[in-house]
Amino acid sequence: MEFSSKLLENAVYEMSQLPGIGKRTALRLVLHLLKQPEERTQHLSNALMTLKSEINFCKKCHNISDTEICEICANPKRDESLVCVVEDIRDVMAIENTSQYNGLYHVLGGKISPMEGVGPQDLNITSLVDRVRQGTVKELIFALSSTMEGDTTNFYIYRQLEGMEITTSTIARGISVGDELEYADEVTLGRSILNRVPFESSMKAN
Ligand SMILES: [Zn+2]
Repeated sequence: MEFSSKLLENAVYEMSQLPGIGKRTALRLVLHLLKQPEERTQHLSNALMTLKSEINFCKKCHNISDTEICEICANPKRDESLVCVVEDIRDVMAIENTSQYNGLYHVLGGKISPMEGVGPQDLNITSLVDRVRQGTVKELIFALSSTMEGDTTNFYIYRQLEGMEITTSTIARGISVGDELEYADEVTLGRSILNRVPFESSMKAN
């Protein structure tokens, strides 16, 4: 792509570093911004800068939050004996959208993936085991995507909890293996949380 301006080229380059944005789309977005009043771009860049510098992760569940403890963990109406283990905050958003779940979450920040060099130590697993050890949590619901990495992660956590008094379950899926949680529709996802199955029996089924 030949650019008539270095400024334009830089902006397009930065935009195209985002996932799913190729050079052509980046150019279209940049030209769009150029046509808009200057405040548009200012608001956009301010929002991104503040996001990066001021965002917090909940000390309890690692959900993205504006406060030290997120709104879900701080809500006294939520059932703190129930913790749903998810890969990232998109899953929290998907499950919240179902309005079928009243427990808390634990955001792992990824899945164990030797291929991508992600080990258990790279994820928020120690803090999860600590939460269980404190004794308030009675049931953990594994809600990772049913890929090999998801299964490996579930099993790793399950092993860490051996000997502790905790029920483990896994969400029942009406969706095919390998589907990512965030793409499941709300009804299916809501139902799969209500119809969760004991984790042990899910292992035998595999
Ligand atoms: Zn939280």
